[in-house]
Amino acid sequence: MLPKALKKFADEKNYPILGDSVRCTRYAEPVGFGMQGSFYVVSASVDPNTWNKDLQKEIKTELKKIGTVSYNQKDSIVQMIVKAPLGAEKLHARLEDSADALMQTLARHQVAYRKTCIFCGQGECDDFADQGAACVPAHTSCKADAAEKLMAEVVENETNGNYILAILCALLGGIVGALPSALTILLFETIYAVLFALIPLAAYYGYKLARGKMNGTVPFIIAIAALLDTMVLEVAVQYIWVRQEAPTFPLSTFLSYVFSGEGFPLLLQDAAMPLVFCIVGIAIVWGQINNNNRQIRQKAQQLAQGTTTSTPK
Ligand SMILES: [Zn+2]
Repeated sequence: MLPKALKKFADEKNYPILGDSVRCTRYAEPVGFGMQGSFYVVSASVDPNTWNKDLQKEIKTELKKIGTVSYNQKDSIVQMIVKAPLGAEKLHARLEDSADALMQTLARHQVAYRKTCIFCGQGECDDFADQGAACVPAHTSCKADAAEKLMAEVVENETNGNYILAILCALLGGIVGALPSALTILLFETIYAVLFALIPLAAYYGYKLARGKMNGTVPFIIAIAALLDTMVLEVAVQYIWVRQEAPTFPLSTFLSYVFSGEGFPLLLQDAAMPLVFCIVGIAIVWGQINNNNRQIRQKAQQLAQGTTTSTPK
């Protein structure tokens, strides 16, 4: 999602928004604005054949007063982190000035711009796309294909996958997540309640590892697996304590006591705090699962929407 301040900037300047970046249409070249964390970044997509380490050093020094220049080798993107002043008006002017400074410096050093599509690597691009909050050349058709693929991924996530195996892996993952809690209880006789939040996270990890179906039921599965694992952990720890006192105490006798009308309320009482923290972890996982598919869907929509009409050189 594009941060609000950048959206405001784009609206005011009438610049098109491409997913996480804003394209500076004052230039025909792939140059744009984005954010990395809380920093504003001006970036240009360059031809890697016209870029090298010495040049990078030189340009970095030249632009030192305006911002910090770095180079993303993977996507051949020159980025400059800009110090952002307070107030929209000043910020907008600073962003524009920074883009001009970057473009002028690149031109002076005869840096050429990327001309190949970020998706297929072919030339004759007719569009721009967003890549890591930077603006890069693309084909309209490649963008549409990428959007379609992402949507297919959401559908695939929601409909395919093996439930049974994934649920088992969620339970196993939860037990792995319970180990830190079990060890601190047994070794240090201390309960770090916050460690219990690891149980649902590990259960979710197990579920994902087994490529379980990603739909609305997942949070419930993870919640049940995590709560079960928390109870298993409680019972196991209690039994280990009993065995330390009475080394021959049979497990079956212990279990029938724990799950009897007398023992169960005591178990629940002991497990209350861990369960609360386990629920905190469940809430985190819940949010993550919902975000995951929503984000992919949003990205696909952004790709489909962010089509511009201007043609790069
Ligand atoms: Zn393409």
